[in-house]
Amino acid sequence: MKLEDFCRWCNAECCKTLILKEDENIFGIRCGLLLFPEEVSVLKRYRPGLEVYPLDGFGYGKTVRVVATYQLPYNVCPFLKNNRCTIYENRPTACRAYPLVLRMWVVPSLETQYGELHLTSLLKAVVDFESRCPFSRWIREIVGTKYLLTKEDVKRLGIEEEVNAVGKIVNYLRDHIMRWDAHFRYDLLTHKWVRLR
Ligand code: SF4
Ligand code: SF4
Repeated sequence: MKLEDFCRWCNAECCKTLILKEDENIFGIRCGLLLFPEEVSVLKRYRPGLEVYPLDGFGYGKTVRVVATYQLPYNVCPFLKNNRCTIYENRPTACRAYPLVLRMWVVPSLETQYGELHLTSLLKAVVDFESRCPFSRWIREIVGTKYLLTKEDVKRLGIEEEVNAVGKIVNYLRDHIMRWDAHFRYDLLTHKWVRLR
């Protein structure tokens, strides 16, 4: 079974539940579909009145200096019609990544290797399957608690494009995290920035 087999029979559930509620989100805030800055321009060409808010901000102390990503504040995507994406060729990277989502960052820590302590200096991203997708639920059943998928698994499951897309998001955010002192997210519930680290 591949992802496309599930998508064929699914009513685009992923495009109808875009808002992650604060109790569903690992960061404890309410947020919508992630957009890169250039994707905001593309979507606004289709719908000039589209509402868009910031998502990831970076800076120092309590001050956001740059907005790195944006978000759609809609639970049902305004580009969905008859369960089809009307901008499929130009859909955002986060849509291309789904059902893979970035869960959290693992910060540098001490690890034991061959009896010696090592400082793991690279920030690692934890990527997971979003549980609202039927494909994800099936994966969890067959893969269980095994976290690392091999290249062969990725090919067999037909998720090469999704892996590349989530990798693009991870690399983009990691570059910002390494460059800035503080990482913020914009909460759609309170309409305030929340400092994550
Ligand atoms: S929820 Fe999952 S199975 Fe359904 S359309 Fe989206 S990616 Fe495909
Ligand atoms: S842009 Fe297309 S793929 Fe993305 S959420 Fe909207 S309808 Fe779904």
